[in-house]
Amino acid sequence: MITRAAPVPLALAVFVAVLVLPGCTADTPEPELADEDRAALASLGYVANELRESGGADTEKRVLVLGIDGMDWLITNRLMDEGKLPHFRALANEGGMSSLLSSIPPQSPVAWSNFITGADPGGHGIFDFVHRNRDTYLPYLSTSKVEPAPEKARVLGIPVRNQFAMPFTDYVFPLAGGATLNLRKGVAFWQVLEAADVPCTIFKIPSNFPPVTSAGGLVRSMSGMGTPDILGTYGTFSFYTTDPWPGSDDLSGGYVYPVRVEAGVVHATLYGPPNDFKDYEKIEERQGATISYSEKKVGIDFEVYVDPANPVARVDIGDAEVLLTEGEFSEWVEVEFVMVPNLVTVSGLARFYLKSAHPEFELYITPVQINPANQVLPITDPPEYGAELVDAVGYFYTQNMPEDTKALEHGIFDNAIFTKQSTIVFDERLECFRYELSEFEEGLLYFYFGSLDQSTHMMWRCMDVGHPAYNPEEDAEFSDFLENLYVKFDGVLGEVMRSLDENTTLIVLSDHGFAPYYRQFHLNRWLYDEGYLVLKPGVRPEHVEWLLGVDWSQTTVYGLGINALYVNTANREGQGIVQPGREATELIDEVAAKLELVRDPKTDQQMVVKAYKATEWYHGPYTSTAPDIVVGYGWGYRGSDKTATGQIPGELVSDNLDKWSGDHCADYRHVPGVLFTNKPITHEAPSLYDMAPTLLAEFGIAKRSWMIGTSVFE
Ligand SMILES: [Zn+2]
Repeated sequence: MITRAAPVPLALAVFVAVLVLPGCTADTPEPELADEDRAALASLGYVANELRESGGADTEKRVLVLGIDGMDWLITNRLMDEGKLPHFRALANEGGMSSLLSSIPPQSPVAWSNFITGADPGGHGIFDFVHRNRDTYLPYLSTSKVEPAPEKARVLGIPVRNQFAMPFTDYVFPLAGGATLNLRKGVAFWQVLEAADVPCTIFKIPSNFPPVTSAGGLVRSMSGMGTPDILGTYGTFSFYTTDPWPGSDDLSGGYVYPVRVEAGVVHATLYGPPNDFKDYEKIEERQGATISYSEKKVGIDFEVYVDPANPVARVDIGDAEVLLTEGEFSEWVEVEFVMVPNLVTVSGLARFYLKSAHPEFELYITPVQINPANQVLPITDPPEYGAELVDAVGYFYTQNMPEDTKALEHGIFDNAIFTKQSTIVFDERLECFRYELSEFEEGLLYFYFGSLDQSTHMMWRCMDVGHPAYNPEEDAEFSDFLENLYVKFDGVLGEVMRSLDENTTLIVLSDHGFAPYYRQFHLNRWLYDEGYLVLKPGVRPEHVEWLLGVDWSQTTVYGLGINALYVNTANREGQGIVQPGREATELIDEVAAKLELVRDPKTDQQMVVKAYKATEWYHGPYTSTAPDIVVGYGWGYRGSDKTATGQIPGELVSDNLDKWSGDHCADYRHVPGVLFTNKPITHEAPSLYDMAPTLLAEFGIAKRSWMIGTSVFE
């Protein structure tokens, strides 16, 4: 028996239909590289000459950058004061320590892009996790683009209809034209370093999928945040259960498959990408029926033999036999999806987790990872780098942000399973880091850890008894999980410090800190109540999703994304009505002023501490594509998931009862990151965009024209 995916739910089917309407595709608009960027790239050739005149790059120099996503300034200080981070304390004493200002807004893809380019969002074009198609007002994921697929994913805890799928660009087959594009603009600091003959390793930096191709063979890199799983999503798990629950057939971020145990055996299927090698038009013509997206997916049938007495089972999948003990994750298993028999297979990696053998059978399978040793989409540059890592450390998670926050949110994981899985992620990453550290002989090594960010998002509630989502029975025993993670990073730092020589500059930094996420602000509700957002006659606000049902001929302002607010501008938006220039500027001023006055009816707290106008805060060629206002939320507040996905709920603000309980998409001044170095920091208020000039300066290279900061050591 083959277990079939549940039928596509109606809401999803409607959205898919919208996607394929002619002239109304969700294809990402592709702004050309600006002239400034072209000039910047062209100017890289001069870097080497410039250096030769000044005596050449400092070839003895090494720079090691540890990027710890989400490491918070206040928490770090508290733990240092309590004596729990001795290596951070020692580094601060020996070199320097400072808060590090994040980006506006302080979202990871935006923040790391500031770090990468030395510019602000106007210079790299990443303004929010979610951008909108100007013509259709539909959202898309901002950092990279593959092909549209109707999977549902979660980004930053927000369900986003994913627009990724697998383009088999390597196979010159149906989707040969489909490109995998890194949507970040601007020039990365390592491109400048490479032009100066400085070798670099860039491990899992966000907003670098697919990885920038090395021009001179001196850079090797692996993509990080923004990297899809094998379905082309930001991570879609599979869960097989004899006990499905109402609504389990319609989750974002995963599929639940009802199964039966018959004579001790479960027959099930693990689904992979759609088989684009088949001519579906022909098949549909022959069958006289349309083939759904789910039916196009290639599956691997597998069996699970459940021990009748003990909490153990064996999975037979492909050539592999995987022994499972209840409560334990398996090692990585390579799975192969056959596209064309004997000709084309797609390789992926999965771990299995037997949640329960009896009385109910419950099996979780991780999102299927792109195999770094056999990449169906490019995740390393050069491609051999992936195989080198697998040889050195074995298989590891390659997707985006691997902690399965969706499984926890949906109750498939509890705190114990989530922390176990995130510990696997941390441990594998540490193995990769130790390997890179042992290989690090010259140039620059950037290495990224994402564990603290993802864990703080999910586990904040456990250490905050005042959080609306805090549940004493379940959460109290995990109250020190985050603190222990900080202590683990202190241990990593200890290893690093022991390995340093005097020619190496060490920089440890984070892209932002954290704040509690107590209350969800529904921006589109506010815009609707104030009369800026108008619905078509008969449309109830509570029924709106993806802004469908909005009367664009009457609407002047709308929200989409986590911090973004747009004016419905004529000649810019598909159905814009506000004239650019004075009319738009006055409207932006009016909305910004009003937003800063909005108070929480429950607490009387100011919910928006500052409305940042793009034209005042951004520099560079992509400022014209920015949201008109970036909303800086107060401590404890954030734009709701529903705002990000264009919904208009019944109330203006509501308690956040989700497991996703900590966040950083507040006003950037509330959530500074950290900066530790083994040299004194002279900069008075370092910001992320100061780091690219800092890294160049360490190798004797002057900062480039597009960089807006200065070295923190000057
Ligand atoms: Zn985050």
